[in-house]
Order: sequence, then structure tokens, then C-alpha cells
Amino acid sequence: MFSSPEEVFEKEKRYIMQTYKRPRIVLREGKGATVKDFFGREYIDCVGGIAVNAVGYCHPAVVNAIKEQAGKLMHTSNLYYTEPQVQLAEKLSGITGMDKVFFCNSGTESIEAALKLACKATFGKRKFIAAEGSFHGRTLGSLSITFGTKLRGVFEPLLRDGVEFVPYNNADAIRDAIDTNTAAVILEPIQGETGIVVPSAGYLNEVREICSEKGVLLILDEIQTGFGRTGKWFCKEHEGIEPDIMTVAKALGAGFPIGAMLAKEGIEFETSEHGSTFGGNPLACAAALASIKVIKEEGLVEQSSELGAYFMEKVHDEGIGLYSNPVVKEIRGKGLMIGVELTKPCGEVVDKAIERGILINCTSDTVIRLVPPLVISKEQIDRVISVLCEIIK
Ligand SMILES: *Cc1c(COP(=O)(O)O)cnc(C)c1O
Repeated sequence: MFSSPEEVFEKEKRYIMQTYKRPRIVLREGKGATVKDFFGREYIDCVGGIAVNAVGYCHPAVVNAIKEQAGKLMHTSNLYYTEPQVQLAEKLSGITGMDKVFFCNSGTESIEAALKLACKATFGKRKFIAAEGSFHGRTLGSLSITFGTKLRGVFEPLLRDGVEFVPYNNADAIRDAIDTNTAAVILEPIQGETGIVVPSAGYLNEVREICSEKGVLLILDEIQTGFGRTGKWFCKEHEGIEPDIMTVAKALGAGFPIGAMLAKEGIEFETSEHGSTFGGNPLACAAALASIKVIKEEGLVEQSSELGAYFMEKVHDEGIGLYSNPVVKEIRGKGLMIGVELTKPCGEVVDKAIERGILINCTSDTVIRLVPPLVISKEQIDRVISVLCEIIK
């Protein structure tokens, strides 16, 4: 192993491409909503592996499912049938209301599958309408529907000619942008990476109607909002809408990498039109099945809703005083997907929170994102709020 965190930092710099800016802590183990670093120091984790660790670290049901499946059959490729994959497909269909699934290994791959499928299902239409502020992933296709020069920068031109960005939370802009070559509209039901941007009630409903009326597919990216994060199994349930295509990943495998693209009846690939070596392998599917079971049995969807409301109540409370601080511009979110927007960059707050035993991260410079494991306790939330207040003061 390593003799000190400094040795880890040094070798990381020497051997790993420097795509990430990380705080100087080395994480070694976790339990529930907490993680421990190199020295055994404990942190309440409000990053949760970026909304991945919904059932918490090392949930025994998930750990056991992985152990058991690993001892039986880890991988066989999609050239053969396996049971966990079919079980998971049935389960996902049940909780999403979608009909058929394609399995992959990450969020961005599920988006790639969705883009390809939308082109195919609309007989070769190529234009996509995406929202300003969107984030859909880092591969070339996903990046081309991701907004902003910061991420696209040196990689332009992407599929640029086929993508039009319209203001988020403005259904008329979508109506105006649709033309005869439009395959699909793609949206996050709440924009995650841009700083937890929650659209007005009714927006997604209106977009759904426009898409149906114009014969354009609606793709919902629930990669970050899925699996109880916003206080419903999927964020679309807040509006009661059904997309034509939906993407999930992040919390699906409780930390085991797996993604999925789901579609309604009649929208599907045929043999050889798409594929993946690892996608939906037995180990990943066993992890996901165990995770979904835990979310259901422990009532984590309801818990997310309750604790999110508890958080909002508590910070609105005068005594807590986050709101009364002029540095705090807005606190918003749904369930345990919460953004605290400051009037200035929040990098310093992140560092100070780590010193006080709390992990948070910063999206789009000025927004503190809180997406803790759904198993976080009220006491832990109290601690997070009081530390935030203390720092921001
Ligand atoms: C994280 C995320 C992605 C990309 O997922 P990866 O697994 O990092 O490829 C896409 N869309 C949304 C909304 C995300 O939050």
C-alpha cells in the first residue's frame, strides 16, 4: 500500500491523466452515508459518488449479491442468455413504465444509444433539440448535445449541425425549434451539472404535448434524477409524463458501473444495430437488482422526499440563517437533490467543509450540490446544515 497520502498524490500525478481536480484526501472505506480517509477520519458524504451511492456505502444486501454472483458467473458477453439480465430488465420495465431496455455501462453510453435509436426510429432524421445548460456526457455524441464551450471547447466541431440549443424551461422555444428533420428533444427533468436547475411545474408536460403533436420523440435523461433521488422513483412522475426514450445510470448499480436506455413499445433496435461487450453483464445486473430491492424495502424513495422537505424547512427557518445570509442566493431542489447557490464561487466552502468532516461539491462554480446517499439520517443532515451555516457566516 502507500505510506502517506502525499505518496498517493505524487504517483497519481505521475501516472494518471490530470482530468480531475480533487481535494487532497484519500478515501479508503465507507458505511451508510459516511466515508473514511487514509487516517480513518470520517466524513458525512453529500456527494455520494455523484448521486450514485443511493443505498449508502457497503450496503450488506448489495455486497452479498455481488459476492455471490462473482463466485458464480461474472461475465459471459451478450452472445448468451443470462438470468440476472432478464430479471433486471423486467424489474426496470416495472418501475419505469417503459417497455424495453438496452444495457450499457455508463450514463454517456446510454445517451449514445438513445441518440442512435432516435435516428433509427424516425427513419434517419438527424436533428436534436437540447437545452441550454444541459449535461448529457463526455463522449462525442453526448458532448454534442451538452451545452457550453467550457466542456466542448477544443473538441468542436461535434455533431454541431444537427443540434439546436434552446433556453431551458421554455416550451415555446422547443416548439419553434422543431423542424421536419428533428428526430428528438432531449432534456434532463432537473438539470444536475448546471447547478440543480428545477423547471417550472407544467414545463415537461407542455414539452410532452408539443413532441406528440409534432411527431418528435422525447428523450428524458434521468441519469442523475433516477432511483428515488428527487423523492419519486423517477423525476418524470412529478409531472406524470411518459417519455419515448429514457436514460438511466448513476444510482442504478449502487456503485457498480451500469447504465440503461429504455424505450416505449415499437421503438427498438434490431439485431446488430447496437451492442456492448460488457453491457448488462450478470455481475452488474446482480448489483442493480439488489440495489432496487433495498430502495424498495427500506422505503428510500419516501425517505428522500421526507428528508428533502426536512432540509428545506430547516434552512428556511430563521434561526438557521442560511437564507438570511447575503452570500446565499437561492436554495432549491427536489427530494435529496439540492443546490445551494451562492453569489460567489464556492470552492472555498468545499475546502472548509472537508476540514469539518463534510464532503460537498460545487457545480457550475457557484452552486453547492448536495446529493447524499438516501440513507442519510436527520442528525447527519442537521450537522451538514450547521457546518454550512458556520462556514458561510
Ligand atoms: C452524469 C450524467 C451523465 C453522464 O454519465 P456518465 O456515467 O458520467 O457517463 C449524463 N447525463 C446526466 C444528467 C448526468 O448527470
